[in-house]
Amino acid sequence: MKYIGAHVSASGGVEFAPVNAHEIGANAFALFTKNQRQWVSKPLTDESILLFKENCEKYNLKADYILPHDSYLINLGHPEEEGLQKSRTAFLDEMQRCEQLGLKLLNFHPGSHLNKETPEECLDKIAESINIALNKTKGVTAVIENTAGQGTNMGNEFLQLKYIIERVEDKDRVGVCLDTCHTFTAGYDFLDKENYEKVFKEFDETVGFSYLRAIHLNDSKKALGTRVDRHDSIGKGFIGLEFFQRLMKDPRFDNIPVILETPDDTLWKEEISLLRSFE
Ligand code: ZN
Ligand code: MN
Ligand code: MN
Repeated sequence: MKYIGAHVSASGGVEFAPVNAHEIGANAFALFTKNQRQWVSKPLTDESILLFKENCEKYNLKADYILPHDSYLINLGHPEEEGLQKSRTAFLDEMQRCEQLGLKLLNFHPGSHLNKETPEECLDKIAESINIALNKTKGVTAVIENTAGQGTNMGNEFLQLKYIIERVEDKDRVGVCLDTCHTFTAGYDFLDKENYEKVFKEFDETVGFSYLRAIHLNDSKKALGTRVDRHDSIGKGFIGLEFFQRLMKDPRFDNIPVILETPDDTLWKEEISLLRSFE
């Protein structure tokens, strides 16, 4: 079965996220466990942690289908020592917040070389950053998101995801989140049936479906291969409904969080019902 939700607001405290997810008819959700635009946030309070768990229980939202997203400031492949250390410290804090909340996944963008190191050096640092964080935590899987490849962002090719995973020591706690908008604008044409099968076969042969931990389900405001990251509402962009219909019927995407990061949050409820009608 499909577990569908959206990246909901946690404003006022993480405990509000499951409430917001429930209100749009979701059985999965994503959230930020701290302010995503600040390096340092206050620790989660015991009360907030308790209420978060209670609300998840109340609305039957299970940790397997909750996908926290880390801060946008973090660059685990940072070319400079100071930026790298700052990122690694912040990433560990994100992981520890997940542990406190009883969550199992942490979704993040791999990193950027900023034209100050080679792509390989950047990927090596990302893998090392993941190893460091995994060594200091328990029970949380590092979920690498593929990117559109905008600017100097790494992770737009399946091969790069494979490269990172190969260098992570604990293979049980590393996985991948495929963002459909990013995949498309990175240059993977999965629009008709034949190409759909081809792209996911390539993914399976390169990374492997066994590493797929989540989906970000977004349409795209930009065309194939533009390497620009602009999400659109489901069916309104360059990807279109046919792809989403196909994906909802595809059992390879069962039992993982399928998360909308579409721009109009007033449509999330409808988008979720629409997607369920395709199952
Ligand atoms: Zn992301
Ligand atoms: Mn995404
Ligand atoms: Mn994006």
